[in-house]
Amino acid sequence: MRVMNDSLFTPVDPEGIRRFLFEGAGVRGVIVRLEHSWRQILGRDDYPDNIAQVLGEVTAATALFAGDIQLAGHVSVQLKASPLLPLVFAECTAEGRMRGLARWGEDAASRSLRPDELPGAVLAITIERQESGTRYQGLVPLEGDHLARSFEAYFAQSEQLPTAIYLASDARTCAGVLIQQIPAEGGAERERDAITFEHAKILADTLQAEELLKLDATELLRRLYHEDDLRLFDAHPVRFQCRCSRDRVAGMLRTIGREECFSVLAEQGQVAVTCEFCNEHYAFDGIDLEQVFASDTLNAAPQRAQ
Ligand SMILES: [Zn+2]
Repeated sequence: MRVMNDSLFTPVDPEGIRRFLFEGAGVRGVIVRLEHSWRQILGRDDYPDNIAQVLGEVTAATALFAGDIQLAGHVSVQLKASPLLPLVFAECTAEGRMRGLARWGEDAASRSLRPDELPGAVLAITIERQESGTRYQGLVPLEGDHLARSFEAYFAQSEQLPTAIYLASDARTCAGVLIQQIPAEGGAERERDAITFEHAKILADTLQAEELLKLDATELLRRLYHEDDLRLFDAHPVRFQCRCSRDRVAGMLRTIGREECFSVLAEQGQVAVTCEFCNEHYAFDGIDLEQVFASDTLNAAPQRAQ
């Protein structure tokens, strides 16, 4: 199935990312629930169930991170666990545009993808903050019985913030919850926040994957924290949208080089590039390629008119 690479045609998850706060305590959270955007990502390839599960959890975690930085930048997560999972990738922009993909090895579909059974596997989390233009990348090894443990380890290591993360995914929905204790000024506040965080985590630990996938943010918070005073912020919509374009592909062809591109053209009659995220097809014939490399040939012989 080929889907148009145009945001006008991709349905939105209006409640994709929702932040919340425990009133009077330095504990905040994010709830993510992606349906349309997740199904768009999932529909781009014929993913075996266990690979889809990992991709869904990585996608939900990426949206949680974007929510945690209040969509003030661009977040991407890469999981590398060769040879079974050479790449699982998801990305969320400040505008809530998601894309993602996974590549898997030959016998990965029949194997366990439990993090602690993937030796040498790593997660790379990259956050580019818009306002400061800074880029930070954190690397954590995959460990424990669930992917969420490695994301928690990332926060413990890079930001030293106690953080609890819950992730779930099926063929319809991917979802997640993040709960985090934020830095406090004084010792007394820190102690109060630590108690609130523990309380929030103990209750969230009772969450079943089914509940995470089925309940919306309001219901989920009511189910967990009906005795607490919470503030639920406005929702941030999320949609599937690829960042590819003909211009970007042209840029990539320039990095490959004139010689290589024209040799492909001679062999195949065109240079065809299909975006792995959205399956959009870009084809360049001889005239197109001359245009792509036009700046290289400014001082060379005059080009033929089109
Ligand atoms: Zn694309």
